[in-house]
Parts: sequence; structure tokens; C-alpha cells
Amino acid sequence: MGKGGFLASRDDLRTLLRRIDRRSYPAYKEIKGRYDFGDFTLVIDHVQGDPFAFPSRLRILMALDVAGFPVELWQHPSRQIGVCSHLAHLFARAAVRLRGESGSGKSGEIGIDAPGQEVLPTTACLVRDNRLELRFTVGLPARGRTILGEQAAAILCGQVPSLVERTLRYPNLDAEDVHRAACCNEDADHLRALLAERDLVAFVADGAILPRRSGIDPRPLEHGAIPFASPDSLRVACDLPHAGRVTGMGVPRGVTLIVGGGFHGKSTLLAALETSVYNHRPGDGRELVVTDPSAVKIRAEDGRYVAGVDISAFISDLPGGRDTRCFSTLDASGSTSQAANIVEALESGCLTLLIDEDTSATNFMIRDRRMQALIAKDKEPITPFVDNVRPLWQEREISTVLVMGGSGDYFECADTVIAMENYRPRDLTAEAREIAARDPRQRQSERAAPFAPGASRIPLGRSLDPRRGARPESVKSRGVKTVLFGTGEIDVSAVAQIVHPGQLRAIGEALLRVRALADGALSLADILDRVAADIERGGLDVLVDRVVGDLCAFRRFELAAALNRLRTLEVKAPR
Ligand code: ADP
Ligand code: MG
Repeated sequence: MGKGGFLASRDDLRTLLRRIDRRSYPAYKEIKGRYDFGDFTLVIDHVQGDPFAFPSRLRILMALDVAGFPVELWQHPSRQIGVCSHLAHLFARAAVRLRGESGSGKSGEIGIDAPGQEVLPTTACLVRDNRLELRFTVGLPARGRTILGEQAAAILCGQVPSLVERTLRYPNLDAEDVHRAACCNEDADHLRALLAERDLVAFVADGAILPRRSGIDPRPLEHGAIPFASPDSLRVACDLPHAGRVTGMGVPRGVTLIVGGGFHGKSTLLAALETSVYNHRPGDGRELVVTDPSAVKIRAEDGRYVAGVDISAFISDLPGGRDTRCFSTLDASGSTSQAANIVEALESGCLTLLIDEDTSATNFMIRDRRMQALIAKDKEPITPFVDNVRPLWQEREISTVLVMGGSGDYFECADTVIAMENYRPRDLTAEAREIAARDPRQRQSERAAPFAPGASRIPLGRSLDPRRGARPESVKSRGVKTVLFGTGEIDVSAVAQIVHPGQLRAIGEALLRVRALADGALSLADILDRVAADIERGGLDVLVDRVVGDLCAFRRFELAAALNRLRTLEVKAPR
């Protein structure tokens, strides 16, 4: 470590590693510190306690002018995020290639939290104080519990500098790729910002590739994908800073139905809209697909926990006289869970609902004439969504994009009807209107209650208990599906817009902040504002007291979704 103001050098690190060679594993702790590698500084932030523990955490700090990137790449936040995401990819790919060369197990592995298809601000690669900062992990090598010092020196003083040279120094990169990553991300942000002024909730560019390789492989379908082609009547043109003029389908605000035969691409289109609240990396196919950043995918989620949500506009008069203005349950039904998901999304500021019939509760969506005749309104607690979708737009300006191949009862409610036919959209708005006029659906509207004023509940901090065993705070996450908060398990597997494990890790940490802020006076919406403002000011690092490279940006809706599913959550009714 640095003594007398001098930073230890790469040679000092090598000497140190040779000195602790063959000693027992904890002697590795000595290498914690900062080392001057000439072009960059290597920081060893945390040294793992044993070879099987989570690998050691390291950082590379390189001055931007040394890294040699043209300054315009850093001058705009969108470009910066695009470039950082690209660099993390490059580093990850190069590190994986090294794996064959170094030992068995995790021993000797270099890792980084690589981005997926979405481009998100992360703590893996960022720019701070005019320095490029890359955070990665190394499994410090051992045989049994004996330090392999020579191997460690080969990794830290050999492989790492060579990775840096190959993946972080602009002159050694494919300049075209780097610029594409920057420009693509800036264009997407620009395009998304245009939505509001164009009165659109989404834009799907002509030529976009929407289908994915498989349900578990989010890369673009390789063979036989039909590129998106907008119908004339919905085509809009947008001018972008880099791509210039692009055309595509604008999905207007209001109520939009996506109809069409089974297997014709309806759900694929909606899924593209769901994930396009985020930007996508070059080559993804959805680079120029953008959605209202406040759009939330809504689905039925039976079994979920619900804490004090006013679902009375959707469901009232439950058997046993249960109050639905403050509805709580440990085990929601399909319809009550879907209602709660909508009300919670609106509480957090959602302006666009995305709903697919495939994942909806039928009785929440429709109730036709015949069923109305058989089961009287006073025996049916549910106001079907078909009676609420229009008022949501007219009274609250909440748009809905709804995949509905199974019921024409929605024709009356729609501003726009898009039919998918062999993966190509057609505008059938006029036809659907004409059918609705010729053949009215003859069902009574069943709206029971007006929408609640939309006030936000007040979460009680004491109901969030992060203790586990002897640890005062224990929060972990598993992939994109589960957060372990204290002894509680939060199931977010139905929350579609958590797309990267790093988002869920950050959400887990943010829940601790929510707990600290939930003083019994602040509403959930207020708390979400504060967390967002803190992150805006200090970056994702404000969420943790260590230096970590595995956090990704998340939206307020997904943080709220995790909180709302915490089975101990208690709330006070809104003021
Ligand atoms: P729907 O919801 O209308 O029943 P899906 O969206 O589930 O249909 O799509 C059915 C299948 O077609 C999926 O396997 C999907 O990957 C594929 N698919 C969707 N869009 C395209 C496209 N543009 N080109 C090629 N295949 C597509
Ligand atoms: Mg479908």
C-alpha cells in the first residue's frame, strides 16, 4: 500500500504476491489497496476471505484523456451510458475468453456484471471525476486454501493490464462500434422524449426486429424474422440526432387494441413495448422502439400479497362484506391481483397500462351480455376492465395498450385498433368502429364506483424488518425473480419490467432506504421521489456503503412493486 504519499506500483504488487505465495488464504488480505500501473490505477477494494467466497472486488481507474476516447463521446449523458455499456460488454467478452487459460473452478476467474440487451446505467462501468472507472471481480487463485502467488501475479499484473489495453483504450477498439453504441443510445433517448410532444405512448420503427430467439434467450431471432412495417395511417416520422429521419408506427395516447389471430405476433409486439421503456444495444433489433417511460405491464398474479389497496373501482362488494377500499390479502385471486397491480402502478405515477390477454384474468377483462343475464350485477363484485378502460382515459388520462384477440366487446372503447397479420400491423380502427355500430354489443355498462382520487398510501417503516439471525440488515436477491429481505422472501417473478439481476440487487438495497424514509408521514409516492432524487444526485453508489460493480438503474415502478409484495408490509390509508 502507498507509504509516504507514494502509490505502490505494479512491481510492488508482484513482489507482494510472490512474498505471500504458498501462505494460507487470509494472507491475501494484505494486497488490499491502490497500485499505480502507469496508464491506470488498480484498486483492490475487497479481498475475499476464502477461495469459495464471492470473488474479490477490484477497480480500474483510467483518466479519460489516457483512455483516448474523443471527448464528444462523454459530453452527453446518453452517449456516455451507451459507451460504458459497450465497454462492459467488451471487457466481459474478453474476460470469458481468458477462462480457458487459468486453472480450475472460480479460482483465477475475472468477471464483470455484463449488461444484457438493455442499456442501463450501471456501477460496472462509469465515468467519474474525468476518469473511466471499471469495476470487476477476480477469484484470487489457490490450491486448497494455499495462495498461488505466482498465478495471482500473472492475473493481476499480466492479464488485467492486457484486458485494459485491449478493451478500454480507444485506439485499440473498433471505433465504429463505439460510436454506434453512443449514437444509438442518444437517438433512443431523443426518440422517447419526442413521444409526449407527439401525443404518443410508443413508437416502433420500420425495420425493427421484435421476436426473440426463445423465451429464455432475449437476443433477436436469427432466422426468418419479419421486420416491422408500419401501416400508412399510423406512420410518423421523427428526426434523430444521428440516424436522421426515421419512420415507424406511432401508438397514440388513449385506448389501443392489438387484435389478430393466434400466433400472428400480438404478444411479441406488446413484449417489445414493455421492454422499450429501456434502451437497447446496437444489433438488438429494438434500438428504435421506445415506450412511454412510465408504462407498466399489468397482469394477473394470483397468490400475491396485497396491503391496503383501494381497488373499489374494479372490485366491490366482495362476499362477506369485505371492504375493497382498503383491500389486503395474503393470497389474491386472479382478478383482485390484477386490480391491485393497476392501482399500485397508478399510485407510483404510471400513465400507460400494458395488458396482454394471455396473462390476464378473463373475469377481470370481460363479462358479456349472456353472463350479465345469468348472473345479476349484484352477485358479481367485478367491474370488468371493458367498463373502466375508457373512463381511465377520459377521467384520468391513463392510456391502455391491450392485446385482445378474444373479445370484440372492446371495439366501442378503442381509439385505435391495430391488427397483427403475419407479423405485420394493419390499422383496423375504422372497420372495428363500423362493426360496433352495425352490431352493438348490447351489454350494460357496469361501472360501480368512480376512481379513487389516486392518493398514495403511507407505508410503515417498522413493517419492513431486514434482520436475519445476528445480522441487523440482510438483503439479497436471486436473479430477476426473488428478493430476500431479512427473513422474508419477495416474489417479483411476475414483474415483467425487471430485466437485469443488477436492477433487483439495487432494488433490494433501495428497500433499506425506503424503510429509513417510511416514518409514518411520507406517502409511498413521496418516498419513491426521494429515493429517485438521491440516486439522481449521487448515482447508484448512494444505495450501498461499499464499492460494488453489480448495480443497475431501475424505475420507481419496480421498486414499488418489490415493496408492495413484501408480505409484512403495513400501510396507513392516504391522507
Ligand atoms: P400471438 O400473441 O399473436 O399469439 P406471438 O406474439 O406469441 O403471437 O407470436 C407467435 C410466434 O411468432 C412467436 O414464436 C414469435 O417469436 C414469432 N414471431 C413474432 N413476431 C415475429 C416476426 N416479426 N417475425 C417472425 N416471427 C415472429
Ligand atoms: Mg399472445
